[in-house]
Amino acid sequence: MSNKFIYVFGPSKTEGAADMRNLLGGKGANLAEMCRLGISVPPGLTISTEACTVYTEQGAQSVQNLIAAEVKQGMAFVEKEMGKTFGDAADPLLVSVRSGSRASMPGMMDTILNLGLNDEAVVGLAKKSGNERFAWDSYRRFIQMYGDVVMGLKPVSKEDHDPFEVIIDEIKQKKGVELDTELSADDLKQMVREFKALIRTRLGREFPNDPWEQLWGAVMAVFESWNNDRAKLYRQMNDIPDSWGTAVNVQSMVFGNLGEHSGTGVAFTRDAASGEDIFNGEFLVNAQGEDVVAGIRTPQQITLEGSHRWAELAQVSESERASKYPSLEELMPEIYAQLLKTETALETHYKDMQDIEFTIQEGKLWLLQTRSGKRAGPAMVRIAVEMLKQGLIDEKTALLRVTPDRLNELLHPVFDKQAIKKATSIAHGLPASPGAATGQIVFFADEAEEWVNGGKDVILVRQETSPEDLRGMAVAKGILTARGGMTSHAAVVARGMGKCCVSGAGAVRVDPRARTMTVGSKVYKEGDWISLDGTSGQVYEGKVPTRDAELSGDFGTLMQLADRYKRLAIRANADTPEDAKVARNFGAVGIGLCRTEHMFFEGDRIKSVREMILADDEAGRRRALAKLLPMQRGDFEGLFREMNGLPVTIRLLDPPLHEFLPHDEAGQSAMAKEMGVSFDEIKHRVDDLHESNPMMGHRGCRLGISYPEITEMQARAIIEAALNARAAGSDVKVEIMVPLVGTVREFNAQAKVIRETIAAVFKERGAQIPYLLGTMIETPRGALVADSIGKQAEFFSFGTNDLTQMTLGFSRDDIGKFLPFYLRDGMYECDPFESIDQNGVGLLVKMAVEKGRAARPGIKLGVCGEHGGDPASIEFFHRVGLDYASCSPFRVPIARLAAAQAAISD
Ligand code: ADP
Ligand code: MG
Ligand code: MG
Repeated sequence: MSNKFIYVFGPSKTEGAADMRNLLGGKGANLAEMCRLGISVPPGLTISTEACTVYTEQGAQSVQNLIAAEVKQGMAFVEKEMGKTFGDAADPLLVSVRSGSRASMPGMMDTILNLGLNDEAVVGLAKKSGNERFAWDSYRRFIQMYGDVVMGLKPVSKEDHDPFEVIIDEIKQKKGVELDTELSADDLKQMVREFKALIRTRLGREFPNDPWEQLWGAVMAVFESWNNDRAKLYRQMNDIPDSWGTAVNVQSMVFGNLGEHSGTGVAFTRDAASGEDIFNGEFLVNAQGEDVVAGIRTPQQITLEGSHRWAELAQVSESERASKYPSLEELMPEIYAQLLKTETALETHYKDMQDIEFTIQEGKLWLLQTRSGKRAGPAMVRIAVEMLKQGLIDEKTALLRVTPDRLNELLHPVFDKQAIKKATSIAHGLPASPGAATGQIVFFADEAEEWVNGGKDVILVRQETSPEDLRGMAVAKGILTARGGMTSHAAVVARGMGKCCVSGAGAVRVDPRARTMTVGSKVYKEGDWISLDGTSGQVYEGKVPTRDAELSGDFGTLMQLADRYKRLAIRANADTPEDAKVARNFGAVGIGLCRTEHMFFEGDRIKSVREMILADDEAGRRRALAKLLPMQRGDFEGLFREMNGLPVTIRLLDPPLHEFLPHDEAGQSAMAKEMGVSFDEIKHRVDDLHESNPMMGHRGCRLGISYPEITEMQARAIIEAALNARAAGSDVKVEIMVPLVGTVREFNAQAKVIRETIAAVFKERGAQIPYLLGTMIETPRGALVADSIGKQAEFFSFGTNDLTQMTLGFSRDDIGKFLPFYLRDGMYECDPFESIDQNGVGLLVKMAVEKGRAARPGIKLGVCGEHGGDPASIEFFHRVGLDYASCSPFRVPIARLAAAQAAISD
């Protein structure tokens, strides 16, 4: 830690820069960078994240003692730049106090504006600006924000409105006005009095009059906000370490609320929902700070083109649009031209889509923030591919720009076009975040969580969302808001989460107390079904059917690019020809795991399987297996045909036999009837098969060793199918895999049965086909003796699910009881079944890779556990040098991209 905590920025001196985000936070670093680029930014100072660490570890007093002198100096610098004095009654310097961590956490922490005002300074400000209304509007905003954020005055319950807003509404009502801009200076004075009285009665304290006291209170509140619930949750959801801390920016105010020639807005250099390369954004005249994002008034569009698009969606006539909601381009053409120049400069400089905040103060443009904009999954792909084509970024950068998991959003189903024609559209809003969502209406975020925990699909319907709603937004299928634009909190957060969202559906009246949503005369209650189309902005009654998404050309381009860089091949886990087809379409280059037992459940096969289980002797089992043989052969033929030219790994029977029997009495008596045996006999067999730890019981190759005839039947079915498929014209590549091997003797015993059976088939058919015989490495012992196994087995496929269970001693079925505590307390960094435990289980994999290669140079090595679709695990598999990873068909694109990113970062 250095002993410098404060970094100033302004036209005459700037100490920070874009690459100092760890120390200054993203906001502070970019404010400094913009100053360096010569863009007009109100001067200020940044208190480093290291000070936040001191706050967390040693408390408020210590950090204040440590940085007070530097803060004074920094403020003196800002005073000089602005030619005003902090705390001056006649011409006060006012500042904002803003948080800003390394990773952007939009709206997660609180900002305070107009700090430095008090009962005297407000009079000075009014005189100096000649605008009394403005001075009192600024003051009332300051008290409201400070009262909430620093002093902690919150609504009493979730149904209650913000107590400050209640006062505002009462005053508006008394005056018979609708908008806060219509209130006079006298109304605002009264508002200030009432706000202060509210604080006095509710908190038993006075609102602080001393600017320095205000400043320190705000700085500490920002530090403190790093640890508020929603910030913690956001970090948890986005894997941001708690230890980073936030920086604090203290910046001189510029005022968008000075009247008709002032305003504030938010803009994106490209469309954050679709990725289209089009400058867009929203602003409000005579407004400050969060007004646009909070959806307080209907915002206006920045560009004329955007304004036309908006009017069409919002069904606003051209004359109404031009008179009530003109674009910035029309209203303030010079400012617009400057803004356009600035956004181009910023995007070219940062080489990424920027999300910018600006304020216009009496005809002068000020930039208040720039950052890489959050975007929906499809936008991520389009922007990366187009920036590559535009020569802004290179191929590697384009690949690294897309978060693999976000590709999921491109694969989500969309509403069926025919079904949409028949559906009843009840309202329309802005297409804030793409996707199709159907669910039951709920009005509160916490209730969304409860409903989802109860197994329901919900649509969260709110007037507008706030950061408190994050958890509920995360679990909802979609989000509908009555207010707010494309830059509203709901829209920005939904795009960041990849969640379908329609915002600003003006016709929808939300009454959270009554738990109803009204459109026209029709009332929808909590629990009613609606469907949202986040791509068109339409809201439909009931459930609208969906169909598979069509993938864009940009997606294909990205995938081709990924294939050029990746070294790890990506296969899929698929048990049926249908799955295999999906996998192939997504670019899988083989099947890494076909679980034969999945075929055992279908149709009346389960009957033959049960016959086999009930049989008393080998002869009985063979009779039942003979019935299964043609069915298995047929299945395998289908797979081989579908995967023509690509390898197919088939695993022999793996689960314990009891999984094929019913466990409840009703099921058992039905089975007894169907099989013509007594209930007692069935019950007896079920009890017989009962195991205390089935996952470590009679399963995997242990079955084939106890009952070699099962292995025999499967080997025969596989190889006969291979010969048949080849005869029918397919290029067949067979890989047979023995599960759960712990000692080479197990493998040898099964290999003998398999090889002998296959030799017999070859003889019968008078034809041969090459095949590979390998094993899963999924018991710790198997990994430990991988050298001896590798001498016999022709390939290894790591079964990291079982390997994790057995190495950690965690039963996957029981982790729910303790894993949440483990994750909370950091025993493991993440769920070891979601992302491989690299430091533990990973060591076994690494060792087995080395031993396997030493025993058999060129041995084929892959992984087929669920980790095969997890980007962090894929990165690990790449590093230890596996040949392929196999994952579920829908994760194949994600895995391809992750494999490319691993190769690039290597
Ligand atoms: P967030 O991190 O939630 O975006 P910000 O710190 O960016 O919060 O601030 C919230 C709002 O206040 C933004 O609209 C921002 O532009 C505005 N704002 C912040 N500082 C100033 C300032 N010094 N002058 C005018 N507006 C400001
Ligand atoms: Mg901001
Ligand atoms: Mg297994």
